[in-house]
Amino acid sequence: MQVRIVGAHSLDSKHAHHNCFLIDEHIAVDAGSIMSALAADEQERIETVLLTHHHFDHCRDLPTLALNSRDTGNTIRVYGEPPALRTTNTLLLDGRIYVDATKAPEPGVSPPLSLRPFAVGETHEVLGYRVSSVRVDHPVPTMGYIVSAGGLSVGFSGDTGGALMGFFTHPTPPDVLLIDVKWPERMRSEAEASRHMTPGMLRQELLAAKEAGVALPKLLSVHRSLREEPELLRELAALQAELNVDLEPGYEDMVIG
Ligand SMILES: [Zn+2]
Ligand SMILES: [Zn+2]
Repeated sequence: MQVRIVGAHSLDSKHAHHNCFLIDEHIAVDAGSIMSALAADEQERIETVLLTHHHFDHCRDLPTLALNSRDTGNTIRVYGEPPALRTTNTLLLDGRIYVDATKAPEPGVSPPLSLRPFAVGETHEVLGYRVSSVRVDHPVPTMGYIVSAGGLSVGFSGDTGGALMGFFTHPTPPDVLLIDVKWPERMRSEAEASRHMTPGMLRQELLAAKEAGVALPKLLSVHRSLREEPELLRELAALQAELNVDLEPGYEDMVIG
């Protein structure tokens, strides 16, 4: 299994993209930068999307992905928690602004997207991968995922203000965990209010894990705010040195596995 970081930031621009990851070219974790960061043939190879929650930077490209699959005749399966699927379907995929992505364009043709409920805490076999969902801490219902195959487990925190222990103590704990660390410490109040992490909030999570005696995976920080990135990277490097943990920034086009 190989995981490619498509987007490691909280905004989309020329060289940085929304949080989005690609597993062996066929499974996307979130859909915030599929169109802006992937070539057309790469977009067409996506068969499944694992949606963490319904915020725009994670679901934005589902309608345009649906337009693609309507042209190719494929149906893309979109897994997510029922509230996330409901909200995305009602506001984005209902045919008012974009195409109605869950209905067949004509009789006898498959719909572009198939929305598949995935409850928190469940484990499913998806395209031969073992996929488990983990509850995280965000203002709307949000799940992270652990995806395992070929002896490698990779976790995706989704947007979260903490709750990493659910990954560390999971029956199939990740070898590598991609974590939302959005802002530097001086923006702690914004981070706490909108439930994203700062290096100080991550520090608390890691100290709690060390105290509990659980093994820590390799940690890659993503969902970084571009504007504050230099300050944030300095703080993350200081945290890595202080706690002596395997922590580094994830970047666009980095490959894991
Ligand atoms: Zn969010
Ligand atoms: Zn986000």
